[in-house]
Amino acid sequence: MKLGIVGLPNVGKSTLFNAITQAGAESANYPFCTIEPNVGTVLVPDERIDKLVEMYDPDKTTYAVIEFVDIAGLVKGASKGEGLGNKFLSNIREVDAIVHVVRAFEDGNIVHVDGSVDPVRDIETINYELIMSDLEILDRRIDKIMKSIRGGEKKYLAYQDFYERLKAHLESGKTARSMDMTDDELDMLEDVALLTMKPVIYAANVAEDDYANEDTNVFVNKIKEYAKSDKAEVMVISAKIEEEIAGLEKDEKQMFLDELSAAESGLDKLIKASYKLLGLISYLTAGKPEVRAWTIKEGTKAPQAAGKIHTDFERGFIRAEVVHFDDLMNCGSMSAAKEKGLVRSEGKEYVMKDGDIVLFRFNV
Ligand code: GDP
Repeated sequence: MKLGIVGLPNVGKSTLFNAITQAGAESANYPFCTIEPNVGTVLVPDERIDKLVEMYDPDKTTYAVIEFVDIAGLVKGASKGEGLGNKFLSNIREVDAIVHVVRAFEDGNIVHVDGSVDPVRDIETINYELIMSDLEILDRRIDKIMKSIRGGEKKYLAYQDFYERLKAHLESGKTARSMDMTDDELDMLEDVALLTMKPVIYAANVAEDDYANEDTNVFVNKIKEYAKSDKAEVMVISAKIEEEIAGLEKDEKQMFLDELSAAESGLDKLIKASYKLLGLISYLTAGKPEVRAWTIKEGTKAPQAAGKIHTDFERGFIRAEVVHFDDLMNCGSMSAAKEKGLVRSEGKEYVMKDGDIVLFRFNV
């Protein structure tokens, strides 16, 4: 999973991104992690993995990872292709979801590009650029559809109607995702890569003192209001706190958070929120050689889940032996779980659940 970090200059993106790359230093030797200056990789915290490691004492432990892409430099005029604008927009095209960092802290020493702290204005400034880019794409699509209609392909009249309504919606300054759409309409957007259809988390970057009492922060409340109308999520972070705790050991980190009366770090919250936003779950494989988490979309069936490990597993899929993590823990061991009949044999139609521990049987 890839998340793109965007936001106006001086809102705290680099501070957050530096915290991410520091926190992710331990994941740097993951073979599939790209090493690029603007990509940071973090391990997805998962207590179930920790428990399985205690049980199996494996030779290798592999957490799921999330990639964060720092898409700095998205500024006014980006959609007109000024400077590097277009490059930023194409960077956004490649991510699964957007983390839009918004300034919700006051600090006279940190200049705001537009002179004052006003999160909703800031959000709209960035969204405007994305909307302009989407309008260009949509216009091209409408032209194409019109040609087909003139050529006698009447089935495209429904497309035309929908695209024109969407266009009016975008022109009113709203994002595509905020429009109510039927399943048929969503299908009509399947191959139209609109930036404002991407899921978004607005990350309100608050002052350190505000991190644990977000309800009293007027900026945060305004962002929440906007996000609701935009069908987006909001999360409160403090980039400064993340920067301070990024290099700490787990225990030290918790002590630091306890002092602030904060339950968890902003980064951990962000990772959890992204999973939820994107409808992702994890299944697990466990044994002496390796304990590992695998990320899949909710609703994925067993063969496709197996395909995550290797395409041969999907092609030659026979069945999956599944025990839920909670059942395994309650029984204390795999053999006890088997005795109780909690290790099931599941076929091709089985829909995977979060926390399933799986052994796939397949033909080669
Ligand atoms: P970017 O341009 O969005 O990448 O912003 P930076 O991460 O470079 O942050 C701009 C400035 O704001 C830096 O001096 C940061 O130290 C500072 N900053 C970031 N987050 C906070 C915060 O929560 N409170 C305060 N007071 N300063 C912050």
